[in-house]
Amino acid sequence: MTGSPPEASSPGRTLMARLDELGRISADSDRLNRQPFTPAHRQAIELVAGWMRLAGMSTRVDPIGNLIGRYEGQDPTAPVLLIGSHLDTVVDAGRYDGALGVLAGVQVVAALHDAEERLPFAVEVVAFCDEEGVRFPTTFLGSKAICGTLDRKVLELQDQAGITVGAALRAFGGDPDALASAAYPPGSLRAFLEVHIEQGPVLEAEDRPLGIVTAIQGQSRLAVVLDGVAGHAGTVPMGHRRDALAGAAEIALLVERRCSATPDLVGTVGRLEVLPGAVNVIPGRALLTLDIRSPSDLLRGQAVAELVQAIHQIAAARGLGCTIAREHDQPASVCAPGLQRVLAQAMRAEGIQVKYLPSGAGHDTMAMAAACPAAMLFVRCQGGISHHPLESMTLPDAEAALRVLLRALRLLALPKARP
Ligand SMILES: [Zn+2]
Repeated sequence: MTGSPPEASSPGRTLMARLDELGRISADSDRLNRQPFTPAHRQAIELVAGWMRLAGMSTRVDPIGNLIGRYEGQDPTAPVLLIGSHLDTVVDAGRYDGALGVLAGVQVVAALHDAEERLPFAVEVVAFCDEEGVRFPTTFLGSKAICGTLDRKVLELQDQAGITVGAALRAFGGDPDALASAAYPPGSLRAFLEVHIEQGPVLEAEDRPLGIVTAIQGQSRLAVVLDGVAGHAGTVPMGHRRDALAGAAEIALLVERRCSATPDLVGTVGRLEVLPGAVNVIPGRALLTLDIRSPSDLLRGQAVAELVQAIHQIAAARGLGCTIAREHDQPASVCAPGLQRVLAQAMRAEGIQVKYLPSGAGHDTMAMAAACPAAMLFVRCQGGISHHPLESMTLPDAEAALRVLLRALRLLALPKARP
């Protein structure tokens, strides 16, 4: 073939153009900022709902403010295959986090619609109202409501302006009193699939367009306080010091060493506060935080136990007082093995080498796993950058994700397929 022009429109091009368009819907004129239950959220729902209807879906907004499009199946009573992600963003966000998973779902349904193809089950595409937890001190409002795991107490949580979740939702046209009706009845969901940018550098470093998420990492957060003795930086000889910061430094290096030595384990000392914090005073107190994550709860538990013991030893050897508070423990969420296999089969069939990787960040898939088999497909993003305007992905990778997702849907439609 000679001289054929590049294909003017393709599913991937449509997807990328729509991501751009959706990315312009923001509360701020100079940056992307789309918080739940705001005019920008409403505008985003209207835009995406229009695209859903073009793809042959009926649309509704549920009582918590999730937009749901439904593409009917051969059997309207069969458990539904749900695809989606979130419409909310962080402040000064990129265009792909969340939006990709919603619009990729719309695009594969459009492909079924164009082919006049009905699967044995209905496919629904969901645009969750809140995943990032930026406006309110809570996350996964949308996916938890769908799973029936949303605690009604969250309705009382307030944003910085003092507006509660319940009041914001009511003003948005939602119905806090009808939250229970947002939940899908047990057994009515066949599976949940989420396409998302990786938000890390692994796929790019290995030159792979896509990856299958094995598990969303569990996380432990600890707060350590070291108490030494403040003193004059000139008059106290080195051998007489009990320097809290020197102990904290040793702990930070210990965390790095311990977590580097084990694959599938990451550890971070993200905060360090030194008191009194003067150039000529030996630090009397140091406060530091530990964030330990792993897709394996066993590995994480072992690492935390060892670190706690070693921290006490470091403190004792330096004559420092030491208290360690365990502030947060979130178990890992393993993605459904059957769905991982289907995604792998779809990737191979599309000529893409299969790559498995854990997710370091939390996702709606974690919440959805409470209701049905749930899995994630990661798409390479440039430089691993996310939660930033420079977040980006390529057209060929978008095309690859759509082909794999569509093929996965058709594989799940085969008789005997089980997620
Ligand atoms: Zn996200």
